[in-house]
Amino acid sequence: MTKLFSVLAMILVLSASCTNKETVTGKLDLDEAVQTLKKELLNEYGQAEEDRISRGVEHVADIWLADDGDDRDFKDFCIKNYIPAGPDLDKLFGIIEDQYEVIRGYTREISIKLDAPVTLRTRPVTEIDRLFSRTSPQFDYYKSKLAFAIALNFPYYTQEEKEEMGKEWSRKKWAMVRIGDMFDHRSDPSVKRDEEPLPDELVNYTKPYMISMDHIFSPDMEILFPDGTRLNCHHGLRDEVKGLYTRENPLVRQRMISNIIMHIIYQTIPECMIGETDMYWEPESNKVYKKEDEQFVEVDFTPEPDRRYQYLHFRMKSKMADDILYPEGSTYITRTFDNRQLSEEKVVQLLESIVGAPEKAQLADILRERLGRELEPFDMWHPGFQSQSEYNMDELDRLIREKYPNPISFQEDLPNILRRIGFDDEMADFLGNHVIVDPVQSAGHANGPQMKGAKAHLRTRFEPYGLNYKGYRIGMHETGHTIEQNVSMYMTDYYFLKGIPSSPFTECMADLIAYRNIVGLGVSPEYSDEEKELNALAAFWFVCEIGSISLHEIKVWHWFYDHPDATADELKKATIDIANEIWNKYFADIYGISDVPILSIYGHFIGGSLYLNSYALGNIVLMQLEEYFEGRDFAEEMVRMCTIGKLTPDLWMNEVTGAPVSSEPMLRAVRKALKSFVE
Ligand SMILES: [Zn+2]
Repeated sequence: MTKLFSVLAMILVLSASCTNKETVTGKLDLDEAVQTLKKELLNEYGQAEEDRISRGVEHVADIWLADDGDDRDFKDFCIKNYIPAGPDLDKLFGIIEDQYEVIRGYTREISIKLDAPVTLRTRPVTEIDRLFSRTSPQFDYYKSKLAFAIALNFPYYTQEEKEEMGKEWSRKKWAMVRIGDMFDHRSDPSVKRDEEPLPDELVNYTKPYMISMDHIFSPDMEILFPDGTRLNCHHGLRDEVKGLYTRENPLVRQRMISNIIMHIIYQTIPECMIGETDMYWEPESNKVYKKEDEQFVEVDFTPEPDRRYQYLHFRMKSKMADDILYPEGSTYITRTFDNRQLSEEKVVQLLESIVGAPEKAQLADILRERLGRELEPFDMWHPGFQSQSEYNMDELDRLIREKYPNPISFQEDLPNILRRIGFDDEMADFLGNHVIVDPVQSAGHANGPQMKGAKAHLRTRFEPYGLNYKGYRIGMHETGHTIEQNVSMYMTDYYFLKGIPSSPFTECMADLIAYRNIVGLGVSPEYSDEEKELNALAAFWFVCEIGSISLHEIKVWHWFYDHPDATADELKKATIDIANEIWNKYFADIYGISDVPILSIYGHFIGGSLYLNSYALGNIVLMQLEEYFEGRDFAEEMVRMCTIGKLTPDLWMNEVTGAPVSSEPMLRAVRKALKSFVE
C-alpha cells in the first residue's frame, strides 16, 4: 500500500467515526434474557420442545441488534411468536411457503422486466434503462421482524449437522431447515470492515486485457493471426488454443499463445502490447518492434509492472476483510465450501483422485500418437476427440440456421427437441411450453421461474441470419437449466426444497442436455456409446486441467491466510511457486518438462473468486449421473432428480444413485473408453 493510500484510509476511518455517533447499533448482551426465556418456554411447552426452543431462542439472540429493542422486547417477541411443533407449526410453515413464493416470484418478474432493455437490446439502451436495470425491490425482514419469527420457529443447522442429522429428516423437515437457512447470520453494523478503494490503475485491470494478435510475430517474424483478431486473457487465448486443433498447422500459433500466457504470468509482457497498439511483438525472444517506413525496428519496452498480482492481492485482501462481519473462525475459504455444502477436504480429495489418476498418462499416450508429436503444456487444453467431428460443422450450421432463423422458431420447437431426447409427450409439452427464448448479445443464460404460473427465460445469441451451431449448443445447455428450473418449480413438493444442492449440480443438469444436442436436432437417433466414451475422455482431460487449476487456487488462498501481511510481490512468488509445485507433481512426467506455472493463468483466480472447483465438480457429478442413466429412462430419471431438491450434495446423490458424490464413476467411464479406444 502506498503512503498516500494509508493516509486516505485514515481520513476515511476518522470521518466514519464522527458521523456514527447518533445511531444505536450493535449487539446487546442477551445472555440472561436467553436463559430465563428458555426456562419460561420450556415450562409452557414441555421437554419435547427443548431442542427447538434452545436453537430458536439462540438463533434470534444471534441476529437481534440494539435497534430491534431491548432485552424485554426480545423476550416479549419470542414468547408471543414461539409456536410448538404440531398442527400450528405446520400451518405457519404453509403460510411462509406461500408468501415467499409471492415475494420471490414477483421480485423475479419485476427484475426481468426492469432489466429487459439492457439484456435484450430490442431498442437503443438509454442511461435511464441502465439505472432501472440496477434497481430491484428491497424488503427489510428485520424491520418488520419477520426474520425473527422465522429464525425462532425454524432454527439454523450447521453444515455438519445437516450432513449428520439430515439422513433421518423427512422432506417437510428438510424444507423447514431450508427456511431456517435464510437468516443464518446478520452482520453487526457497528463492526466496520476495512474499506479500501481499488487503486485507479487497477480499476479496469481485467476487463480490457486484450492482446492484438495481428501485431504478434512468430519466431520467423510472420504475422499468423488474421487482421482484427483480439484475444482476451485468459478465455480468448485458451479458447483459441482449443479451436486451433481442428485447423491446419496449428502448432506455431499455439506456441505463440503459450508464450504470451507465460509472459502474462511472469509479468514480462511488454506493457505496450496490452490492448490496442501500434507496436509489434515477438513473444519467444520477447522483442518489441516499431514499424518505420515499412521496416520493423526493435525498440525498448517496459514490462507490465506486476499489476496482475497487485490486483490479485487487492481482491483477496478485500474478501478477507469481510471475515470480521462473520462469526469468529469464518474465512473466505470456509464460507466458500459452506456454500458449496461440501467440505474442503472432500472437494480436494475428489479433485486429487482425478488429477492424480494413472489413466491420465494413458490418455496422454493416445494424444501424443494422434498429434504425432511430444505434448506441450498448452495441450492440457486439448478439447478431446469430439465425435461431432463426424458431423460436418458447415452442414450443421446450415441446418440449424434453416430450422431456427429467429428466437420464436427455437422456442416453438423446444417440445419437439425434448421429445427427441426422450421426454414423453406430456412432459415435453409442459417443459417446452414453459420457456421464453430471448436473443442476447452475450453468451447464454437461463433464468428460472420463482412462482407457479411464471416461465423460464432462456437466452442465447442469435446472429442476424439466425442460430448457428455454437448458439444452438449453448441454447441446449440453457435448455437443460430450464428443465431443472421448471421441474423443481412445478413438481417439487415444497417451495423451500426446490432447486438443486449447489452450482456444480445445476451446471451438470445443463450439460446433460448439451451432450444430447445432436439427438435434440434429430440428426442422430440416440446419444451413442461412442459419443459417450469420447465425452467421458474429454471430461476427464478437462478435469485434469481445471482440477489442478482449482487445487492451485485453493493452495494460494491458504498461503495468503497463513501470510496475511504478504506484499503483492510475495504473493506473486507464492502463486508461481505453488503453480510449479502442482505442475511438477501431476504433469512434469507426462509433458517431460518441469516448472511450468501455466496453471495460474485463469481470470477467475486473479479475481479471487475461489470458484474454479465448481467446474471440476460439475463434471465429476455429471459422469456419476451418466453412469446411473445406463439402462434407465434418461428423461424420466432426469425429471425425478430435479424434484429431489436442495438437500446436501451427498444426500442428494444418495437419493439419485444410492451412493454419495464420488469420482469413481468418472474413472470407470474413462477406463472403459480407453479400452475401446485401444481396441
Ligand atoms: Zn450453465
